[in-house]
Amino acid sequence: MARPPRKRSVPVKRDETQRYRCGTMEEHRRLIRLDPEYRWRRRQIEQETREWIRLYADEGLRTGLIRIPVVVHVIWNTAAQNISDAKIQSQLDVINADFRRLNADATSTPAAFTGVAADARIEFALAVRDPNCAATTGITRTQTTVSGWTRTQTGMLSAAGGGHDPWDVTKYLNIWVCNYTDGLLGKGSFPGMPAAEQGVRCHYRAFGTIAPVDTPYHLGRTLTHEIGHYLNLLHIWGDDNGLCTGSDEVDDTPNQADKTFTPPAFPHVSCMNGPNGDMFMNFMDYTDDAGMNLFTAGQSARMDGILHTVRASLLASDGLVPPAAVTGSDLWSKDVSDDVGAEPDASAQPMYISDDIWVRNGTDGIANQDHQNPEYGSPATNVYVRVRNRGCTGSASGTVRLYWAKASTGLSWPAPWDGSVTSPALMGSAIGSQPVSVSAGDDEILEFPWSPPNPADYASFGADAGHFCLLSRIETGPAPGFGMTVAETSDLYANVQNNNNIVWKNITVVGEEGGRVSAAIIGNFGDKPQKAQLVFVTPKGEPYSIFDWGQVWFEITRETAQAWKKSDTKLHRVKRFDDTTYRVLGPGASIGPITFGARKFGVLRLRFAPSATKRLGVRIFTLDLQQFAGDRLIGGQRFVVKTKPDPRGVHLDLSTMVFDGVTWTKGPGKGPCRCG
Ligand SMILES: [Zn+2]
Repeated sequence: MARPPRKRSVPVKRDETQRYRCGTMEEHRRLIRLDPEYRWRRRQIEQETREWIRLYADEGLRTGLIRIPVVVHVIWNTAAQNISDAKIQSQLDVINADFRRLNADATSTPAAFTGVAADARIEFALAVRDPNCAATTGITRTQTTVSGWTRTQTGMLSAAGGGHDPWDVTKYLNIWVCNYTDGLLGKGSFPGMPAAEQGVRCHYRAFGTIAPVDTPYHLGRTLTHEIGHYLNLLHIWGDDNGLCTGSDEVDDTPNQADKTFTPPAFPHVSCMNGPNGDMFMNFMDYTDDAGMNLFTAGQSARMDGILHTVRASLLASDGLVPPAAVTGSDLWSKDVSDDVGAEPDASAQPMYISDDIWVRNGTDGIANQDHQNPEYGSPATNVYVRVRNRGCTGSASGTVRLYWAKASTGLSWPAPWDGSVTSPALMGSAIGSQPVSVSAGDDEILEFPWSPPNPADYASFGADAGHFCLLSRIETGPAPGFGMTVAETSDLYANVQNNNNIVWKNITVVGEEGGRVSAAIIGNFGDKPQKAQLVFVTPKGEPYSIFDWGQVWFEITRETAQAWKKSDTKLHRVKRFDDTTYRVLGPGASIGPITFGARKFGVLRLRFAPSATKRLGVRIFTLDLQQFAGDRLIGGQRFVVKTKPDPRGVHLDLSTMVFDGVTWTKGPGKGPCRCG
């Protein structure tokens, strides 16, 4: 029988007397008391969020990246309050690290909690376009006669009050940096709070990591915490002042009695939450900046829920699109998260991972915009395409043409998308077309019903059950040329990079069904023979490498093995086990040259095997397999291995090699694999 919890002693909290960390709940309670509509809205939002989590949390972390435009309003009375651009950038750097789990102190998360620590896959950037479609630095500066505000005052939120009016709160995350005279550090708005309050406020001495800052709030975590509220996160202790009855509505954070200031020694047990105790190092506690270092997968799911409902308009914002480059209206879609519509796209990310095309095996592609592998025989598979207009005025019209191809590292244009490659099986075809009209600065999401081809037709490609590439082209002119800025050639990669009307997706989620097995078709869709090089790449900016998690193996057919022998194919960082079985030793591994005849294909059967010795958790591991012709990148396929949330912790049985419900057998060499 569990002992009743002891009466806790209440230590003097030195920081509380000097600084008041967060004013969000006070404002929430005030509105709950005074505003029945707010009470109703919050209840609705909470119900929607719970429903979203019930439906989708089990899919694991989002594959895509969400990039939120930010405007910082500096409201200053003394010169010291007129903080530098560098100080603002230092704050952006902190939130960009914290929401991607790229923070250097992620290594300080206790081992007991690393399994639930999550990359929330949210990024932030200063706006380059203001609400009037003028160029901007994303920073406004307002000199005020007000020497400062107390925590319940709102003057900084409007010009009338001595501050700055918010920019369109549906398109920008507004951040006001000002002076608080009563020690308040920051305040975030919950979704559902009045529009005039939407955004985040922060004391100028608790903002960024550059002077003036006051220790222990000198590492920029006030903003991380307040943006957490803005994305609907609650305090980790449930705001019940030590009663153990409140909740943050997140399953993978422990029940915790009260807020934390100075970080205690780990573990710190309350609410009978031993042996690991409080997660006082969570960003949604009140711990000193140096003592906090994680969001959890459950918190990430709550943020996802709000980003697909109340705050979904942020995903369509044009705040990061430079206005000067646009004359008139211009329909486009994003190739990658940091694409701004430039032609050619200058992003360092590869061109085959667009988040503006996604598949759902259902009709829920607005509610959840994360990509699923299409499932043959699903009653309703739909492809969604987001079309944007980066113009400043008017609207533009065009026709969206959507195509599929078998997921291949090398692809051309128009074959195989036009249905002309039918051997050994149909390698691609049109899905459909729809007219689209989008007003300036806006977006439209089109839904295309699709019946993916029967995987049985592709038996000659081994295990490749149902992996497909998608291509969307917005045509704004009559044939030929179709309104593209740069004429299309057979070089598909260049077509996509040069034209913001064309986007492409070749992402395969390596799922649980059938084990962690996937496949990539390699080959040459062109009319002439091609010398190819295949390279395994860990995408930049990802917090984890698949090679830190486990092993990557591949198998080829005997026919391919013979061809490799004939063309003197070299292996770099690839270990040969036998003629047809190989292990990829790390990023940068490559195979080549491989000579493909015209329209000749092979297949790599890939296996992703978790290491039996490493701790796992809720993660996304990505690996790109890229095909080069000479030194020119012609295409690639991204494999995403998701490990699922499990509130009971790490799910890896070392004795029987059961992982995520899949039984692994002893594979070739020492590695585990789910062979055959
Ligand atoms: Zn708070």
